[in-house]
Amino acid sequence: MSQKLQVIKQNVIECVKCDLCETRTNSVPGKGNFKSNVIFVGEAPGRSEDENGEPFIGIAGKKLSTALEEAGISREEVYITNVVKCRPPKNRVPTTTERETCKEYLKQEISVIKPKIICILGNTAFNSLLGGSEITKFRGKLVQKDNQLYFLTVHPAATIYNQELIKVLNKDIMKLFHLITELKNKKYVKIDIDYSS
Ligand code: SF4
Repeated sequence: MSQKLQVIKQNVIECVKCDLCETRTNSVPGKGNFKSNVIFVGEAPGRSEDENGEPFIGIAGKKLSTALEEAGISREEVYITNVVKCRPPKNRVPTTTERETCKEYLKQEISVIKPKIICILGNTAFNSLLGGSEITKFRGKLVQKDNQLYFLTVHPAATIYNQELIKVLNKDIMKLFHLITELKNKKYVKIDIDYSS
């Protein structure tokens, strides 16, 4: 792990900047390859993540791993994190204050990794990073904002009881890695939504 990411991780572990520090078991810093071309950003840790201090290791995490495997990618190749690094009680959606307070860590992770694409998983990350809503309408799209590319897809947790959404997630992840290959090969990629213009 890069030294800068190690510092961010330690700061997250010790963080008491919002009320979630009082109810968490463990903070959950991002994890993965600091040279990754993509950062996956979810909402917040759930029960398994809170117990173990690692992101996306519960059922939703397995859905993400499967989607990655289907695209020929291992989890170790990518970086996975959340907007909020501590579990909200009963898995409620993190409040705006919690999201805004915690977002600095995500900004730091992004500035160290410098991903070609940030993959937004679900509505909370969509709203926190781009001010969007209704991810199911916009999923599968490539977005540009402030010289950063974002790709939108559903949160893996939403696929747990929905076979159709599993297919959607898998298809989107496949498209995401196709886009990354095109970018690496300096090919043209079509921006679906440009927030900069
Ligand atoms: S959620 Fe974020 S800001 Fe709040 S205590 Fe945890 S690490 Fe700190």
